[in-house]
Amino acid sequence: MVTTHPISQGPVIFWLRRDLRLSDHPGLTKALETGQPVIPVFIRDDILCSTGAAPRWRLGLAAQHFACSLSAIEAKLIFRTGDPVQVLRALIQETGASHVMWSRAYDPASIARDKAVKAALKDDGIGVESVPGHVMFEPWTVAPKTASYYKVYTPMWKSVRDRDVPEPLPKITKWTAPETWPKSEDLTSWDLGKDMQRGAGVVRPYLAVGEDAAMERLSSFLAGPIADYATDRDLPWKPGTSRLSENFAYGEISPHTAWHDGQEALRAGKAGAEVFLKELVWREFAYHLAFHTPQIVDQNWRSEWDAFPWNEDDTTPEVTAWKQGRTGVPFVDAAMREMYVTGTMHNRGRMIVASYLTKHLMSHWQIGQRWFEECLVDWDPAANAMGWQWSAGSGPDATPYFRVFNAETQLEKFDKSGSYVAAWIAEKAAKPSQTALSYFDAIPRAWGLSPSARYPAPIVAMDVGRKRALDAYANRGF
Ligand code: FAD
Repeated sequence: MVTTHPISQGPVIFWLRRDLRLSDHPGLTKALETGQPVIPVFIRDDILCSTGAAPRWRLGLAAQHFACSLSAIEAKLIFRTGDPVQVLRALIQETGASHVMWSRAYDPASIARDKAVKAALKDDGIGVESVPGHVMFEPWTVAPKTASYYKVYTPMWKSVRDRDVPEPLPKITKWTAPETWPKSEDLTSWDLGKDMQRGAGVVRPYLAVGEDAAMERLSSFLAGPIADYATDRDLPWKPGTSRLSENFAYGEISPHTAWHDGQEALRAGKAGAEVFLKELVWREFAYHLAFHTPQIVDQNWRSEWDAFPWNEDDTTPEVTAWKQGRTGVPFVDAAMREMYVTGTMHNRGRMIVASYLTKHLMSHWQIGQRWFEECLVDWDPAANAMGWQWSAGSGPDATPYFRVFNAETQLEKFDKSGSYVAAWIAEKAAKPSQTALSYFDAIPRAWGLSPSARYPAPIVAMDVGRKRALDAYANRGF
């Protein structure tokens, strides 16, 4: 992972990706500790360009915010477009840099890119170093005695829960700048939000961009909701969770910071603290799986599912109704609309809509995986893949294939007062809520939907869909 090339001369280039913060940043801290000038660069590469509309837009906001944080300490984020090898080589040439550093990523696409960049720059005689920071427990540092990785969450949790996690590093407040800054492209000219169209204006007020906003989220969660988190985290109508996934996705807060603050809450006797720590380890588990079994992002983790007759057409009327929140199943539709308006979806909603798509509609989990990548501002390559394979039954440690969520009984259990449905479905109310109406401002006009239309009858009855899925499993010998 680390080259031994001494950092003795010339600036260090630090390539930022999903680590857009100054607090607890091991990589940037290490780069600045060399005493050499540090040049931070953010690259619009193929991976960024192929990211879905909402996360690409949100990444642009994170980068813009981070650039402002850097300028407050007289540093500058350099924006460049192209193949990272070419971009970095050009910057090295322009600045006389002798080293390039970055924070490690663990999803297969990033790993493949980073390996290629590392090899090319090392061939050029440049020192290259990748540094941890995105996860607490690097995937190769956690393993059971009898295997090289964990396939199941609970033993992994047990093996890491008492581990020492490094204390968060202090916020960077001083920068060693180069004599002259290299030229930068103008981030606004990249237009990263172009595919959001009018949805951006609707979603924007729900976002908390930047590290101060992320810390504020963590503090407010620890000051209140964490006490009842163990139960409230299942109630989609209640702001009972941290909402930090949006910030973790861009590295606006480190998992170490949340872990240490969560541990403090545990010591202070906050009832939900342990469950919160467990959730942070679910995020680690997702990266653990993405690293050790990279096929989780694009193939059935359990290959016996390859023979299952999924619908793979994402344009069928049923799949379209699912995407548009018009299945006639209130829990499913409320959750899909919540995603359009806020850019995120409650975890219970994610499980319900994923079960409905893969089981009631027998459509491939990859259809849902792609759609979430298009719409979620907290899209995360590892957590999204694991969540979809868990829901479909094709993943490791997945929900059993025969467990078909009943969205009606789930609604009775988790939305007893009907608040969630009232918040998101306008057609079911005489006086629709503002949030429910704002869905119609967020979606593409081409969908031609209106709040005054009749709410549809269910496209598949709960029991019919369930039976169809179970029969299909039985026919395949599951
Ligand atoms: P909290 O309840 O406050 O939990 C704290 C943190 O723990 C979260 O921010 C997150 O980082 C982590 N966490 C919690 N639950 C999970 C989980 N099940 N898996 C992995 N990490 C978890 N999460 C994403 O961050 N990005 C995704 O793209 C994503 N896609 C999903 C798709 C499906 C089909 C499913 C079922 C789940 C998906 N999740 C995803 C996991 C989960 O729904 C979200 O992390 C959670 O809703 C975020 O809300 P929060 O920050 O308030 O979480």
